[in-house]
Amino acid sequence: MRDRIEIPAPADFHVHLRQGPMCSLVTPHIRAGGICLAYVMPNLTPPITTTERALEYKTELEVIDPNVEYLMSLYLSPSITPEEIKRAYKAGIVGVKSYPKGVTTNSDGGIESYEIYYPVFQAMEEVGMVLNLHGEIPSDAENNIHVFNAEEKFLSHLESLHARFPKLRIVLEHATTSAAIECVKRLGDTVACTITPHHLVLTVDDWAGQSFNYCKPVAKTPADRISLQRVILEGNNKFFLGSDSAPHPIIRKSTAKPYEPCAAGIYTSPILLPLVAHILESFGALERMPDFVSTFGRRFYKKENTQVTVVLRREQLVIPNFLNKDEQNVVPFWAGKYLNWVVDI
Ligand SMILES: [Zn+2]
Repeated sequence: MRDRIEIPAPADFHVHLRQGPMCSLVTPHIRAGGICLAYVMPNLTPPITTTERALEYKTELEVIDPNVEYLMSLYLSPSITPEEIKRAYKAGIVGVKSYPKGVTTNSDGGIESYEIYYPVFQAMEEVGMVLNLHGEIPSDAENNIHVFNAEEKFLSHLESLHARFPKLRIVLEHATTSAAIECVKRLGDTVACTITPHHLVLTVDDWAGQSFNYCKPVAKTPADRISLQRVILEGNNKFFLGSDSAPHPIIRKSTAKPYEPCAAGIYTSPILLPLVAHILESFGALERMPDFVSTFGRRFYKKENTQVTVVLRREQLVIPNFLNKDEQNVVPFWAGKYLNWVVDI
């Protein structure tokens, strides 16, 4: 049995760092969780739609914790032009995130149709920026669209975007279904996919009635979960870690009020690498850890780094019940449970 894992500069290719006091609380947790590079989501209030604002946000993050490399993204919206894309690229901004309207936190300004963005996608393809897709279509009872088929119904959009822009690098974010895994496998090398640790362990039965396990896209069936595990076990280089770590204050996760739904999001940043190691080991994929949390994603994003190494040691870690700073608090995933790995600092 292994008791030590060395990983070259682990990277989390999908993380939410929020604003204000919550940002101050959660940003230092990235490094504590063993991660060296964070791809930061732009769904702030208001969303990040300009190069200037993205750079300002990056500076705010660097002031809080300069020990992490932050890759920045823009929020796809009608105000983004091909000129803005060129400006963003020159300023080192890496990608553009698309949220379908209203499906998750701060997505009210999300997209309804991709066609108006074709000139933007063309500019992204030319300069080499990445398109990140929240791959769900909005629920629509009249057409029988709901949280369980929203991802599968989105896949035709992914396929047509890829057919139209074959050189545009596209990441289908936080896949949750066998259908999504099969679709990404089938498409060309410019299409990749992030997988969260929580979707490797949760199914519908874990979040129905348990608000701290509730996130979007929702965890699906045991068979879907097996497909996610299997593609990591196979060592397919199109699939890599994006935690979708998404903090919400405790009161927003567990309101116990009939008229106020709980927020969608699972928080994993402070325990991320130990959590991934624990989960991968549970289905026999521990050997895939360096590829899944570093090599594959870094290669796709052209951000390879072999200068830094992070070591995980086999030792029991108790996940804290909550984390707080000043007035802010957040409950991590699996609070109170034990993991078998710690980050060796
Ligand atoms: Zn997200």
